[in-house]
Amino acid sequence: MGPPGVGKGTQADCIKNELMIVHLSTGEILRAEVDAKSVIGINAKLYMDFGRLVPDNILIEIVTERISKSDCQNGYILDGFPRTLPQAKGLDKMMHSIGHDLDCAISLTANKDELLDRLIKRGEESSRSDDTPDVIRNRQNIYWEQTAPLLDFYHDKGILKEVDGLGEIPEITKRILDILK
Ligand code: AMP
Repeated sequence: MGPPGVGKGTQADCIKNELMIVHLSTGEILRAEVDAKSVIGINAKLYMDFGRLVPDNILIEIVTERISKSDCQNGYILDGFPRTLPQAKGLDKMMHSIGHDLDCAISLTANKDELLDRLIKRGEESSRSDDTPDVIRNRQNIYWEQTAPLLDFYHDKGILKEVDGLGEIPEITKRILDILK
């Protein structure tokens, strides 16, 4: 978990390779649905283009289906999910029903202004329609309002670990792996 731009996707990719588990990014899954112009994609685009959260029921459906697949049976790292309390509760339920356990919730932390600069730079280089300054600001606000409260949810479960998200990429990966191992 962590605010937009903190490096969740980058770190999830590094960890996936180290631990040989699956990296599930709900943002990437949704972008693929948008590109494929599927019903989910057409609906999701209405929210994503404004930096708003796609409705919980769509996300829960996508993740339930995805983590039931055979490639997820040795483990997976969720990136960008859950983002709301109903999603977190939905995840608990779906994992429990297929005999999975959530080992750890990693919270990557960083300074807000630094993240805004990083994302604006990424926006100049990427083709993501939600990396424009206004939409970025909206995504940041939504993180602090709707997703950050989940940190308490995982803290209360005793599985929340905070990791400083500033620094060189390999250094941050090492911090995360040290916790996971
Ligand atoms: P991301 O690539 O994780 O930054 O996600 C890009 C966009 O996809 C977000 O701004 C949301 O519009 C949507 N999205 C991704 N994951 C979720 C989620 N768990 N809940 C709701 N919307 C999501």
